[in-house]
Amino acid sequence: MIPYGRQNISDEDINSVVEVLKSDYLTQGPAVPLFEQKVAEYVGAEFAVAVNSATSALHIACMALNVGKGDLVWTSPNSFVASANCALYCDADVDFVDIEADTGNMCVKALTDKLEKAEQAGRLPKVVIPVHFAGQSCDMKNIHRLSLRFGFNIIEDASHAIGAKYLQAPVGNCRYADITVFSFHPVKIITSAEGGLATTNSKSLLAQLQLFRSHGVTRDPKLLTGENQEPWYYEQIDLGLNYRFTEIQAALGTSQLSRLDEFVVKRNELVAYYQQKLKPAVAQLNVKLLATSADCYSANHLFMIKVPAAKRRPLFEFLRNKKIGVNVHYIPIHHQPYYQTLGFTKDQYPKAVDHYNSAITLPLYPDLTEQDIDYIVACVEEGLTSV
Ligand SMILES: *Cc1c(COP(=O)(O)O)cnc(C)c1O
Repeated sequence: MIPYGRQNISDEDINSVVEVLKSDYLTQGPAVPLFEQKVAEYVGAEFAVAVNSATSALHIACMALNVGKGDLVWTSPNSFVASANCALYCDADVDFVDIEADTGNMCVKALTDKLEKAEQAGRLPKVVIPVHFAGQSCDMKNIHRLSLRFGFNIIEDASHAIGAKYLQAPVGNCRYADITVFSFHPVKIITSAEGGLATTNSKSLLAQLQLFRSHGVTRDPKLLTGENQEPWYYEQIDLGLNYRFTEIQAALGTSQLSRLDEFVVKRNELVAYYQQKLKPAVAQLNVKLLATSADCYSANHLFMIKVPAAKRRPLFEFLRNKKIGVNVHYIPIHHQPYYQTLGFTKDQYPKAVDHYNSAITLPLYPDLTEQDIDYIVACVEEGLTSV
């Protein structure tokens, strides 16, 4: 089976993990802050906080922005469930903004309309979480403009997009967001096995993120409230979690980060090859590809085709039978049974639903070869003419 995504682990990655295993620290040592500093430098943000998953990063990002009961958080229905669950962890309510059909990203027009209605109804979102679908940035400049007009905070879910650029600058620099979140799950662009990270340019958000990552406990003299500050003294000043990133993960992450540009270049080359090879299918077999924006350099986490809805399932099964590990991104979050119990109906956000009904994700990862792509595209063509 050709998988849809796969990590690339080098001898250097392995050696750096082994080195940390022989060192004094397995957690809370020097490798984590070093990794944080390197990611912050890479993306051009002031600060970074590494945690055990992007899901955790999204959760503490919501906590840091004071999301709580009665608050509203909006995100894209065309995403992994974690993009929405983070608000539910904080007892807030979730709602979704439909996507633009051609990129799969949150639609600025739909967002504007929804904000205007929400303003009239007196219930604006506290936080909006745009998701950089498949590795291409959302229209952050316009989303940021709306945040100033309507007074909401922004968390970018850039789980697909480390190494991507928006308006010539790295995604994650937080120029248009309060906090940006990355994932280092093995199918993503770089990996630390499990892992995630939040970037910000705000010192106060940094302090909150660090506090919530580790039990709400601090030794920072500026934050302590007690009078008797003995040398062993620490305080829990809020209710936090244990979302810490280990030294082992940091060693792997740092080693992977040194090859991030190489991975993204390779992904872009493979996508260009796919696009070239799929031209006949696009011209003759009703295949559509995601649109690319001139403002963006995509990290190309995912590559997908869209086919007529009636052909999607038979083609999916045809490709799986050909040992091609196709996938679908995404079952709309509001279609999940849990979200149905919250009152969402399946016909909401029709563009995300249309996308879901026609999309098939094809394999894409740095070790995929042009020969693999030749085979995959030949199978797509054969499948579409036979199913
Ligand atoms: C993978 C992913 C997440 C969750 O990442 P984890 O590190 O596995 O918690 C969140 N949002 C999106 C869009 C993702 O693709």
